[in-house]
Amino acid sequence: MTVLSGPSGVGKSTVVAHMRKVHPEVWLSVSATTRKPRPGERDGVQYFFVSDEEFDKLIANGELLEWAEFAGNRYGTPRGPVLERLDRGEPVLLEIDLQGARLVRESMPEAQLVFLAPPSWEELVRRLTGRGTESPEVIERRLTVAKVELAAESEFDVTLVNTSVEDVARELLALMEVV
Ligand code: 5GP
Repeated sequence: MTVLSGPSGVGKSTVVAHMRKVHPEVWLSVSATTRKPRPGERDGVQYFFVSDEEFDKLIANGELLEWAEFAGNRYGTPRGPVLERLDRGEPVLLEIDLQGARLVRESMPEAQLVFLAPPSWEELVRRLTGRGTESPEVIERRLTVAKVELAAESEFDVTLVNTSVEDVARELLALMEVV
């Protein structure tokens, strides 16, 4: 099992999207979130978009492998689909935040933790500001979180620097032993 984490805006989802375009057979866990969908996002594809009450229920029923609050919303990995694939010996990829990665490390010490780092802090600020879908308050909050998250690199097994989406996607596939 491979966990891709790193600061918000570093390009985790872009890398994963590219990787899956090239290798559609690579399974990615679809998280549940209380965040509202961004334009173009579809329920069950990028996320399962759920209410606060539904998320409470997922936690209470032990249906989440890990979950974390990030910038005012909750995100969690549904446990069942991940365990099914691990049982079958299939590769599993999680794309989650740092708190979630730490929880996975505790519950599944054999998981491979991959840190996606930005080429520079300036580049990360540019990406977080340039997405254009978030309010200044949300961007400010995400930058504060990102600064703390960058310091966590040393806790990870591997660091990949996101200079090129294609290169990072290839490196990630190699780490997952898919290619
Ligand atoms: P976004 O709102 O930009 O889609 O995601 C915000 C952050 O939540 C990203 O760092 C993303 O990796 C993380 N995230 C997405 N799904 C999960 C999850 O299931 N668990 C945890 N802990 N973080 C997640």
